[in-house]
Amino acid sequence: MNEFEIAKVQALLKSAKNIVIIPHKNPDGDAIGSTLGLYHYLTLKSLNVTVVSPNDYPAFLKWIPGENTIVKYDYQTDEATKKIKEADLIFTLDFNDFSRTDNMQFLLEKSTADFVMIDHHQSPSDYAKVTYSDPTMSSTCEMVYHFIYMLGDEASINKDIADCLYTGIMTDTGSFRFASTSSTTHRVIATLIDKGAENATIHNRIYDSNSKSRLLLLGCALKNLVVLEEYNTVYITLSKEELVTYNYEKGDTEGFVNYGLSLAGIKFAAIFIENMHTDEEFVKVSLRSKGNFNVNLFSRSHFNGGGHINAAGGRSNMSLEATKTYFEDIIKGYKNQLID
Ligand code: 5GP
Ligand code: MN
Repeated sequence: MNEFEIAKVQALLKSAKNIVIIPHKNPDGDAIGSTLGLYHYLTLKSLNVTVVSPNDYPAFLKWIPGENTIVKYDYQTDEATKKIKEADLIFTLDFNDFSRTDNMQFLLEKSTADFVMIDHHQSPSDYAKVTYSDPTMSSTCEMVYHFIYMLGDEASINKDIADCLYTGIMTDTGSFRFASTSSTTHRVIATLIDKGAENATIHNRIYDSNSKSRLLLLGCALKNLVVLEEYNTVYITLSKEELVTYNYEKGDTEGFVNYGLSLAGIKFAAIFIENMHTDEEFVKVSLRSKGNFNVNLFSRSHFNGGGHINAAGGRSNMSLEATKTYFEDIIKGYKNQLID
């Protein structure tokens, strides 16, 4: 943000009566951490703020300070609709296109509120009065830290804000190991620990809270792993039947795709998971890469999705079997980019 945009945000905050903060659908650690981090910051300024999420989030995030205040559009549609209709200022965090809010899209399109976007995905849509977009950033949580800093309020960061922001930086950087982790990211993390973030406890709550059935589901996913050696590529599948067998719960498959990338020499990993959340029949696609193989473009071209260079997602409206066949076919066109 430049000085002009900072002044604009300050003016918007000054006149706002009802503020809503929105994460993307199926919010992850970064989406929940950033929205709640901003929520605590704005609440400290005595503003009237509500986080409205399109839907629920995994159990391993259900300890983050303030999460019990989140209004979920799919369960609490009337209350969520009222909040959005009453809002005169709406922050959209960790996404950059209304379509990422799924069923809330039409409400946002109709809204007369001013929008502020804070996001680190590529190609932001043009809906916000202030667009703070930076694809080089590790996470939206890191951006919320910089946002508070730019508003001159770093001193107001308390333990709650620090716990929230630490969580999202940690999850979006794969515990500080992805290429997006900069020296600045580490400086921000150091500051958050100084401000009270309980780093060891947070790691424990996020990563060491597996149920036995989740570990067995991981075992099943790893058994299904297919290596396409010629293309330095792997993919994993999980069918509805397998998810049911291992008592699938929301969030259980989070991070599975990364196991594919941990194989020596692999540059591109995909996971195809049959939808279990609604009656709709489709396959959720998650893509990860190493180096300069751009999975954001791959997802946009073939799976109606998007994301970042090294982490993206999308969906396939074909059956799981047909999706596998399709993937094995299209990958042939990327051979040059995937071999050294
Ligand atoms: P994941 O594979 O963990 O669901 O998502 C990885 C990244 O891709 C995240 O940054 C997420 O925001 C983005 N992403 C996931 N699914 C979709 C999708 O359907 N559409 C778009 N545009 N981005 C997605
Ligand atoms: Mn993110």
